[in-house]
Amino acid sequence: MKIKCYDCGKESLETTYGNPCECGGLLEIVHDFSEADADKLKYVFQRRLSERMSTYASGVWRYKELIYPELAEEHIVTKREGNTGLYGSELIRQWLGIRTLWLKAQSENPSGSFKDNGMTVAISHGRSLGYKRFTCTSTGNTSSSLAMYAALAGCESVVLVPSEQVSANKVLQTMAYGAKVIEFDGTYDDGIRFYEQFGVELGLYICNSMNPFRIEGQKSIVFEIAQSLNWELPDWILIPGGALSNVTALGKGLLDLHSLGLIDRIPRVALIQAEGASPFHEMMIHGRRELIPVNRPSTIASAMNIGHPPSWRKAREFLKEHKGVTCSVTDEEIMEAKVLIDRSGIGCEPASASTLAGLRKLMAGGTISKDESAVCILTGNLLKDTDVLRKHHFGGGPGQADPHRVAIARLSLETVMSRL
Ligand SMILES: *Cc1c(COP(=O)(O)O)cnc(C)c1O
Ligand SMILES: [Zn+2]
Repeated sequence: MKIKCYDCGKESLETTYGNPCECGGLLEIVHDFSEADADKLKYVFQRRLSERMSTYASGVWRYKELIYPELAEEHIVTKREGNTGLYGSELIRQWLGIRTLWLKAQSENPSGSFKDNGMTVAISHGRSLGYKRFTCTSTGNTSSSLAMYAALAGCESVVLVPSEQVSANKVLQTMAYGAKVIEFDGTYDDGIRFYEQFGVELGLYICNSMNPFRIEGQKSIVFEIAQSLNWELPDWILIPGGALSNVTALGKGLLDLHSLGLIDRIPRVALIQAEGASPFHEMMIHGRRELIPVNRPSTIASAMNIGHPPSWRKAREFLKEHKGVTCSVTDEEIMEAKVLIDRSGIGCEPASASTLAGLRKLMAGGTISKDESAVCILTGNLLKDTDVLRKHHFGGGPGQADPHRVAIARLSLETVMSRL
């Protein structure tokens, strides 16, 4: 394994992480898979599905050979993350009119979002280097995940949280795990700039979205989907985009699977952004060469409320090379899709529902046909944002108030029967 700069190609020492290369480019992990044998790997991954207690019971470390083969097991901090459901929903399939649809519920991770898939790897790497204190800036889910793993490892965590448009649940969860929370006036993007300037002086292990070890761990999402479907992926994979680390990991994971011969074709990827925070989508549809940041991003999907996504170059390269598309959806469209996902019994936070809203839009525009198959990656848990739930079900938010809520004056058989 080598750590290289994605832009200038310069190799870094293994002690560099979480911050860009001197040239400003992002770091990337490059594995040597020349000795790997696809059939043997499939056999090993399949055998590990029966593990219960070992490190390999994790849905991330099951694929250790493709993620971080060199790491000594004693450093691994795991909560058996991953292992999330891949569901079908008749309700949603009919709403869309699509033949085959899967929903991959990363919301079922131990801290409630896909951030766990990457964080277990970053924290384990940091521990192998002897770090005892970890940090990140976050719209909320990254800090919850960081705080959870740091606590589990008996380490400290410090998180920088923007004061605006962050879900209170995520901040509370982070505090409950014992993190020091530093709230600042500004956005996620200001937090990222702070680490770029002062990260080295802080002397903490930085787990931001560009930490290359997080990207390696997040590849496991598509590894799990592929394994569940017997190494045959659907035509389309839809994924939400904020900082664009997840789509970067998805692309890298797909290329790994393909180059190893574990899958024989690369599905198309659709990256969905919220309209109020869609600088990447704007760049792609206008064919621009540079990303123009959005200064005041705004969306109900707090996990995607990012105006200057750090990983845009990596994301663009994959999408351009492999016929990927982008799409943006409004907060109303996100809420409409979220209601369906919640009612289907799966549930998710708003950012995740953008994938389903995007799928509907891409089908309406003719990009995706009803005869194709698709998987939507649901990134975060229903309970991650109770403000949004309260507004929707008690009234006052975008979309219609919930007709399932009725009030009666006095509890009696007649009043209850009259409302059934
Ligand atoms: C972080 C996050 C996203 C966005 O992922 P990026 O890697 O930042 O593009 C989407 N949904 C949820 C729930 C998240 O926590
Ligand atoms: Zn460089």
